[in-house]
Amino acid sequence: MTARLLIVGPQGSGKGTQGVRIAEAFGVPAISTGDTFRAAIRDQTPLGVEVKAIIEAGNLVPDEVTSAVVRERLAQDDAAPGFLLDGYPRNLGQVNDLDAFLESRDEQLDAVIELSVPRQESIDRLITRAAEQGRTDDTAEVIAHRLSIYENETAPILGVYGERGLVVSIDGVGTLDEITERIVTALVARGLTPQG
Ligand code: AMP
Repeated sequence: MTARLLIVGPQGSGKGTQGVRIAEAFGVPAISTGDTFRAAIRDQTPLGVEVKAIIEAGNLVPDEVTSAVVRERLAQDDAAPGFLLDGYPRNLGQVNDLDAFLESRDEQLDAVIELSVPRQESIDRLITRAAEQGRTDDTAEVIAHRLSIYENETAPILGVYGERGLVVSIDGVGTLDEITERIVTALVARGLTPQG
């Protein structure tokens, strides 16, 4: 049984936390492009040096850079039974890149989890996270910029996946456990089987 999943939602929707939980439930690696970039910046790798200023400004890393990182990660053995991608694709160009990669391997996505939260709730959560974690891209100005990129560039990918019948829309307001349960239930209803 494979599970090839995406989780899509605005910053502050809890997609990172839920992504890890859902990946674990279905026995696949959670792959977060944001975490990958932050680790590269922390370790001062060539990738980190290349993307640092872009991320601090809240802009998107160029598609060719991001898609190359994802392709390399998805080609690793632990992603053979599937994966949960968090934060990728982030625009229509990246949807095309992922389509081409999956097609070359004769693989298909099983579902795209859309995590919805009201805009003000996202902002409140991001401001709390900024105070707790001190992320350099969590300032009020950069948060507003990232949310507008989400609305303009990322939200349209849900239209494309929706036409393919892949989108599972989940209400992202509730406790962590409630939201995980909603997602698992919706994926099981689509024929996916959790591990264990
Ligand atoms: P995230 O943790 O998903 O909010 O990502 C943090 C930052 O990393 C974003 O604001 C972007 O600067 C960059 N990033 C993450 N994923 C992508 C992606 N798929 N395409 C371009 N930039 C990305």
